[in-house]
Amino acid sequence: MYDLIIIGSGPAGLSAAVYGKRAGLELMVLEKNPMSGGQVLNTYEVDNYLGMPGVSGFEMGMQFRRHAEGLGAEFREAQVSSLERRGQTLAVCTNAGEFQAKAVILATGAVHAHLGVPGEEELSGRGVSYCATCDGAFFRGKTVAVIGGGDVALEDAIYLARTCEKVYLIHRRDELRGAVVLQEELKALQNVEILYSHTAEEIQGTEAVESLRLKDLKTGQEQLLPVSGVFIAVGIRPATELVRELTACDEGGYVLAGEDCATQVPGLYAAGDVRKKPIRQIVTAAADGANAATAAGLYCRKKAEDPVGNGQEQGLS
Ligand code: NAP
Repeated sequence: MYDLIIIGSGPAGLSAAVYGKRAGLELMVLEKNPMSGGQVLNTYEVDNYLGMPGVSGFEMGMQFRRHAEGLGAEFREAQVSSLERRGQTLAVCTNAGEFQAKAVILATGAVHAHLGVPGEEELSGRGVSYCATCDGAFFRGKTVAVIGGGDVALEDAIYLARTCEKVYLIHRRDELRGAVVLQEELKALQNVEILYSHTAEEIQGTEAVESLRLKDLKTGQEQLLPVSGVFIAVGIRPATELVRELTACDEGGYVLAGEDCATQVPGLYAAGDVRKKPIRQIVTAAADGANAATAAGLYCRKKAEDPVGNGQEQGLS
């Protein structure tokens, strides 16, 4: 029996591990991949985390992990299949066995959203990619398209422009969503062309991506853009399937939890990109981890004083 099980080892999970260990909790971090860091690992360069300008996502993930390990956090590679409240504890079922804890922090992050256009699934891994830093090297000297107008799309286009001959940024509106500093950097690049008010209608190719069928939303005209790669950066979806039946989520699947990250279920906390909140950044994920672990520590202490829960059960604030 653990005091705390943390599911996920991105910034939220690792920050929770640091705060949990410092609060003296017996805790375990369950991670589905052997590499910690979550989405940070796929980020070429992080330039907005306080005190670490320009750090690579990979290095940042490693530093976060080393910090938690240095404080004695236990890590286990396991795929979680279910999570349920069982009496006074929470049971976490995984492919590596079942574990029980007084409290659980869900820090499973988010996954890439798909466009849902013809050709996307069929050509995935054959020119269609959701990660420029993972796959960009395959497109050296080629022409590629990035779809989206948020931070990730802008970062991806800037990253790809370093090695690709030409990069098209395709955005459905006439205004970008991503940070102004990224917009300025992107617009200064000679080999980047931004196609505003355009949508991708189909990704074409037989063995691999050959072209992208685009629609100009202002004129209704379509064109075929010859490209070797299509990088899709149209947002993220929270990985909250484990708790959708257990606690309240909004229509997008984000868990409803307050600043202390407490959900409707006593002992269950949601931290990082899984939680409904206005800004999803590394720094806000780390803040969630700190808040969730602190609240979980208080909850465990109350449980120790009142094991059968006769006192007030804490839940969504
Ligand atoms: P995002 O900010 O939600 O942007 C998604 C983009 O995709 C938007 O421009 C959106 O268009 C477009 N889009 C969505 N669905 C689409 C569709 N079906 N067809 C065409 N376009 C579509 O997502 P993100 O860029 O993945 O970023 C996710 C979160 O991570 C954000 O909060 C972001 O700020 C954060 N992030 C932070 C950092 C950092 O801290 N350095 C780096 C990367 C990302 P509209 O603009 O029209 O809605």
